[in-house]
Amino acid sequence: MSFSMFTLCDPLLKAITELGYTQPTAIQEKAIPSILSGQDVIAAAQTGTGKTASFALPILQKLSAYQTGKERKLRGKRIRALILAPTRELAVQVEASISAYGKYVELSSMAIYGGVDSDEQKQRLIWGVDIVVATPGRLLDLAHQRALHFDELEVFVLDEADRMLDMGFIDDINKIIERLPVQRQNLLFSATISDDVRALARRAIHNDAIELA
Ligand code: AMP
Repeated sequence: MSFSMFTLCDPLLKAITELGYTQPTAIQEKAIPSILSGQDVIAAAQTGTGKTASFALPILQKLSAYQTGKERKLRGKRIRALILAPTRELAVQVEASISAYGKYVELSSMAIYGGVDSDEQKQRLIWGVDIVVATPGRLLDLAHQRALHFDELEVFVLDEADRMLDMGFIDDINKIIERLPVQRQNLLFSATISDDVRALARRAIHNDAIELA
């Protein structure tokens, strides 16, 4: 199987070809078509399996499919995709992958995490960002300060959901979910799908989700 089997636009195919990806990994083969079709997905996937591209490519495809430069300028502070990650390192790494896959599409992304001054993050949000990869605590702080708004959010991703639960982020995640528009696509990735992860999935995901193992 090759990436050209998916309905991904040429700018995305060009970027992944340049990165040397020739064949989709197992999780990409299963997740990319489901996510492109708009379904909610719960996927068991370890780090190193190519899980980042399995959600990043369909998100970039979906968000770049309709957007004019004018819309982008008017959007300021309104994000279209939110990816929650357990650690600063993972948030930075996921955002770097999104930037690399999105090299030839006109979408902006940023990582948001705690432990650093928030002024620069707030300034970038004012300029307008399409895709945010964030750790839960700092994201909630910025949302409380009205530094970002979720009313145009289209896709919500919980990455490494089991680690986020282990790290005690459940209350923050629930508070974030309460702020999101009801109508959205939800994706959950986790190395293991424990009972706690399933309970979180029930809260985060309203639509019928397909489960990929
Ligand atoms: P991830 O599981 O998303 O952290 O990805 C693990 C590593 O695999 C990263 O270095 C990616 O750049 C790489 N990778 C992801 N998808 C593919 C692919 N289809 N072909 C080759 N390498 C890939």
